[in-house]
Amino acid sequence: MNADEEASFDQEREVLTNNPNGQSPDMDDHFSDIPSEPSILEHGVSANYGRYISNAPSNHVPAAPRNSPEGRSANYSHYLNRTRAPGHDRGARGGAIEQRRPQMFPRLDDADVERIRKFGTLESWKGGEAMFRAGEPGLGIRIILRGNVLLTRRDALGRSQFLAELGEGQFLGETAQLSGKPHLVDGYAIKDVSAILISPAQVRALLIEEAQLGEIIMRALILRRAELVQEGSGPVVVGAATDPRTLALEGFFRRANHPYRALDTEGDAQTLMVLAGLPDWRESTPIVVLGDGTILRRPDEAMLAEKLGLLPDLAPTRIYDVVIVGAGPAGLAAAVYAASEGLSVIVFDSHGAGGQAAASTRIENYLGFPAGISGHALAYRAYMQAVKFGAEISIPSRILKLECAASPFIVHLTGGRLVRAHSVVIASGASYRRPKIEGLDLSTAKGVYYWASSVEAKLCQGAEVVLVGGGNSAGQAIVYLSNYASHVHVLVRRDGLEESMSRYLIDRVMALGNVTIHTCTTIESASTDEDGLRGLTVKTKGRNASIETRHLFLFTGADPNTQWLSDCEIEVDSRGFVLTKGAESSDPSGCLTFQTSVPGIFAIGDVRSSSIKRVSAAVGEGAAVVSEIHSMLTRTLMRTDRH
Ligand SMILES: Cc1cc2nc3c(=O)[nH]c(=O)nc-3n(C[C@H](O)[C@H](O)[C@H](O)COP(=O)(O)OP(=O)(O)OC[C@H]3O[C@@H](n4cnc5c(N)ncnc54)[C@H](O)[C@@H]3O)c2cc1C
Repeated sequence: MNADEEASFDQEREVLTNNPNGQSPDMDDHFSDIPSEPSILEHGVSANYGRYISNAPSNHVPAAPRNSPEGRSANYSHYLNRTRAPGHDRGARGGAIEQRRPQMFPRLDDADVERIRKFGTLESWKGGEAMFRAGEPGLGIRIILRGNVLLTRRDALGRSQFLAELGEGQFLGETAQLSGKPHLVDGYAIKDVSAILISPAQVRALLIEEAQLGEIIMRALILRRAELVQEGSGPVVVGAATDPRTLALEGFFRRANHPYRALDTEGDAQTLMVLAGLPDWRESTPIVVLGDGTILRRPDEAMLAEKLGLLPDLAPTRIYDVVIVGAGPAGLAAAVYAASEGLSVIVFDSHGAGGQAAASTRIENYLGFPAGISGHALAYRAYMQAVKFGAEISIPSRILKLECAASPFIVHLTGGRLVRAHSVVIASGASYRRPKIEGLDLSTAKGVYYWASSVEAKLCQGAEVVLVGGGNSAGQAIVYLSNYASHVHVLVRRDGLEESMSRYLIDRVMALGNVTIHTCTTIESASTDEDGLRGLTVKTKGRNASIETRHLFLFTGADPNTQWLSDCEIEVDSRGFVLTKGAESSDPSGCLTFQTSVPGIFAIGDVRSSSIKRVSAAVGEGAAVVSEIHSMLTRTLMRTDRH
């Protein structure tokens, strides 16, 4: 790696790490689907809601009904003035993204454009036409051959901002266009435009066939998405900043790496004034206002993902080579290797890409990252890599049931949907236990967390927090929280950390001035008030003491996520982790280390009995299982051919 590559990686990591994963407790069970309201663009009172709340400048792009011919002409002249003003409003933002503007909007030379031509089809637009609007399905990326295109980002409150003006040799699109997901920005032809449109499948082919060009394009797409996330365009979340339901929605957007803005109903006077006009807003928050003005009241994650167009269409008749359940490090690695080996693959995850690893603020023991990398950055890179090779990824999608007696296997999702596959990879990992604590209902408790991300850290600023657990994940959380909390009390059952935490983390924890390790200590009970958790009674060697705290972090050992396998006769160990056959295979042509007791069903990563519970081990198993699936599928095919 030369100096440029190193600097470029550092900046990318900074860009991704600045938007750390807002993991928060799974809220799936707390809310029922509430039907969305009609678009505020189309209906009276609510139509004005977005404008009032936003104090939208009069110069925002006029809203137009989707796909209507009138909606295709653009009033963009005011943006053009800004385009030409040197150092327009971006100057103050600075930062890593700003320095990388040439990489974000590169210009391809004539020879490059010629090489790309075969991947797409020609299209043209009249000057003044809207080429695409945020929310519309993306048809792919476009290379501009002639003319200029104005890109603007718009938030759900009608505010629109200049993003870029692109010309000949430059291309339009960001990461969503790799998989046909909706546009996040508006694009207008300034002068007559002719362009090469390259469909998502062809973009992926281009990235692989033309490696050098592919690198330039991929980097630009990722940086553009990072810019949109950092700037916070798109949907607006309206709710109390401390409400766990608001936090859950923010967590959803962060995990999905989807741009959004949050308006706090506790701190933002203007928001309150506007909400006063909405009769039942107190019972309705958190509210999400989408880019097209649709208002969703207390949406759950599945509804939000559907409305944002994030979920792929599932064809019930299609048979995949492999279905992967879980998009943690193991599942994502399997997806990358399976897709790059030419297998048809779909990955489901109920929560977000990266699994437990995405909750890590800094992974320092993963090979190749001497300065460490945040779990969120690692997960996003792996996710994009899987998409690049053509893996379909559906998040959030919870798998409810596996029919392993069926051939092909049938995987059931929430909402009655299903997919079929010749093989299934169980990569559903493990989740932290929710121990019983007297006086605390952990399913609803306010102030109890199972992750320590920027979302939770923000709430703990200057406060005393209690953290239970002595493993490596606890160690990372202690180090991270100590930057925000006034004091971190760590409760461990054992008489030290040596048996459960890596030495480098123990040393780091011990060096922190605002951390106290309470050894041989457990929680006896908790007290609460209307604001949530108020304090804890803890017991150390038979003696009780109390700690006043409103924030309790639980990192208390994990159970395997195998509920969805209950209808299958897959063998598990005494703790419920899935047993794999090891070298026990009756098939003479090879031993399938990761195959379970049911042929064709494999288990990898933390969910697997006796696996090493580490990112690198999970990734290794994800890579290794693919060659086993390959040989299994080949043998099955040969057998079918013989009959
Ligand atoms: C805070 C924290 C910090 C850590 N730090 C490190 C570190 O620095 N270094 C290190 O090596 N390891 C670390 N670990 C451990 C490491 O993250 C795990 O070993 C690794 O993530 C396991 O990967 P996995 O893919 O097997 O499972 P997981 O990461 O658990 O992923 C499983 C995925 O499956 C999904 N899933 C579960 N059930 C279903 C279902 N029914 N339907 C759909 N999806 C489902 C989950 O949502 C999840 O995303 C850390 C763990 C934590 C919690």
